[in-house]
Amino acid sequence: MAGWFPVGMLAAMPPTPHTTPEPGEARIRDRGDACPGALRLHPAEDGRLARLRLPAGRLTSRQVETLATAAETLGDGRISITSRGNAELRGLTDDCGATLAALLAEADLLPSPTHERVRNIVASPASGLDGLGRADVQLWARDLDAALCAEPRAAALSGRFLFVLDDGRGDVAGLGGDVKLIADGDGTAVLWPGGPQVFRLAAADAVRAALAAALAFLDAADAAGTGAWRPRELAVTHVPDWAGALAAAGIAAEALPVPPAPFSAPPGPGALGDGHLYVLAPLGRLTAAQLRALLPADEVRFTPWRGAVVVGAGPERLRDLEAYGLITRPDAPGAGVTACTGRPGCAKSLADVRADALVALPAALPGPLPVHFSGCERRCGHPHGAWVDVLATGTEGDSYSVDGVPTPRTSLSEAVAAARGPATPTHPATPTR
Ligand code: SF4
Repeated sequence: MAGWFPVGMLAAMPPTPHTTPEPGEARIRDRGDACPGALRLHPAEDGRLARLRLPAGRLTSRQVETLATAAETLGDGRISITSRGNAELRGLTDDCGATLAALLAEADLLPSPTHERVRNIVASPASGLDGLGRADVQLWARDLDAALCAEPRAAALSGRFLFVLDDGRGDVAGLGGDVKLIADGDGTAVLWPGGPQVFRLAAADAVRAALAAALAFLDAADAAGTGAWRPRELAVTHVPDWAGALAAAGIAAEALPVPPAPFSAPPGPGALGDGHLYVLAPLGRLTAAQLRALLPADEVRFTPWRGAVVVGAGPERLRDLEAYGLITRPDAPGAGVTACTGRPGCAKSLADVRADALVALPAALPGPLPVHFSGCERRCGHPHGAWVDVLATGTEGDSYSVDGVPTPRTSLSEAVAAARGPATPTHPATPTR
């Protein structure tokens, strides 16, 4: 059985190490990283929650079927796509952990139980499919995943540590990664290892360089002893010697002045390249039937914009997918609209934001800005860049603010439409929050 492991491993996930801060440095946190995973189920109001890391969002046909089956037989029948292109299952029963783990392992969705929460890799979803981009970073993502899982020390990374691999088109470079690789011309790549230092190196060394940078961060975090989970949390006195780490790994790298990050809008739903499709999940969530409707496909790639690239599917499939309730057109009302879990799944929520979004959306015209509905000020899963902030504010679930303007629930459609702006095909270029 591929990827199988003893059930005893379920409780043996490595804790985030606690070390002592150096004199003069305050601890950032004293708790370990409690990020949910496939083996560490999180108790929520609607049952247990599992978060499955899918490097580059990639699923084989068999894995699509497994995910749909797991959602139907163990959970609430739905699959959420996260802002990192991972998958979440909700409404899981308290005692389903071993069954879920066995299902996922059987489908090669748990290649390393000790590393399952650190396989956070976002990569340009259309890379290698549409002729854009300077390299196929989907291949880099697979190599990086294998390298991470083969490196025991990498299991100590936080479940929040993120690798971002952009093929040069700029679609994911702005998504806030901790270690970023951007494909450049002439067989090179640019490495941004989480600080104001950037290195150019051979594309053939890109994956090894990303891993070396992550391990250098771990060494620096251990030395600092402040409980940092991400490079940006390290004090300047503990910024890793990135150049030294690359040299120690045998990687030739040239330090560069920090360039502006490339930017391009995410793909709109519809046909993609030659013989592929892109669809969005309504409010970022798929039913098991909607997920299965993506098949047949050579593979499916979940995206950070809560959609799915369907590799090897022609435009004649769009009509069927729309009939399943998937968003297949950029001008569909739900395009670009997401929502957090809200009531009843999250105890912190002031409203059933998903239900309110569904009521408001048919009357709210699509616009250039993404929209995110949040049940409380944590704003879980909000988009990067500029977006319309729809926040529940009233304890009775009847009042909101839209970009800070108090708005009764009954006026959400008009307020969201006004905040989104005219439906022109533009996109914000500068991250603002
Ligand atoms: S934003 Fe608040 S209400 Fe929504 S899921 Fe996060 S914690 Fe819960």
